[in-house]
Amino acid sequence: MPRVVVQANSEEIRFQCQRCGSCCHHRRPNQFGELIKPEQLKDFCDCSNLIYLTNKDIDRIIQSTKLDVAHFVDTLYEYDGSCVKVEDSGKKIILDLPIMKSKEESTCVFYEKDCMIYLIRPRACHLFPFFVKEETTTEGDILLNISYNPYCPGIGMGSPIDKSRLEMLVVEQFLERAEAVAEEIQNLREKGRIAWEAQIFRSIPGLKSCVRT
Ligand code: SF4
Ligand code: SF4
Repeated sequence: MPRVVVQANSEEIRFQCQRCGSCCHHRRPNQFGELIKPEQLKDFCDCSNLIYLTNKDIDRIIQSTKLDVAHFVDTLYEYDGSCVKVEDSGKKIILDLPIMKSKEESTCVFYEKDCMIYLIRPRACHLFPFFVKEETTTEGDILLNISYNPYCPGIGMGSPIDKSRLEMLVVEQFLERAEAVAEEIQNLREKGRIAWEAQIFRSIPGLKSCVRT
């Protein structure tokens, strides 16, 4: 059974949003293809800024905007509420996590000079530039590093952030998603749909429809 370890960073981090809007322009690096291998996950996290959506985010946006999921949710496979797909006779598990859809030039579908859903924006937008960077050790343990996107010009500005509060919020968001994924994988295992030697990949939705960076 793999352990989940949260690694805290001891450095002081200052942050003040400069309202530049660059977190609303999503980078989908194409050097990984549409499927990211486990050993590439850390590099992918370093050079992308996709906005991952939780089920609560999706429900809240639907309730407030009355839009259909197809308008703002992007997945590699057709979105059906499940984020675990199995291929290659169960040897390939693909985490097709829903992300915020972008327009063709990579701008968020809700961005028009400013965020049109600011008060109900997804938790990942609220927390940006901070997020959990995942790593898998050779023993199979999962390391969660609280990290920040280095492209955000707000880093290094303003006052030092409250790190314990931030860690709590970021890990809470990560665990909400991890629990949903674990439940789906467990169900698939019980149905015998997953092979013992299965490898877990992560998808990058929207590569075909958005400008590649
Ligand atoms: S969080 Fe960072 S990238 Fe996003 S608008 Fe603020 S300064 Fe810009
Ligand atoms: S939902 Fe709003 S804050 Fe989040 S990426 Fe889209 S425009 Fe930006």
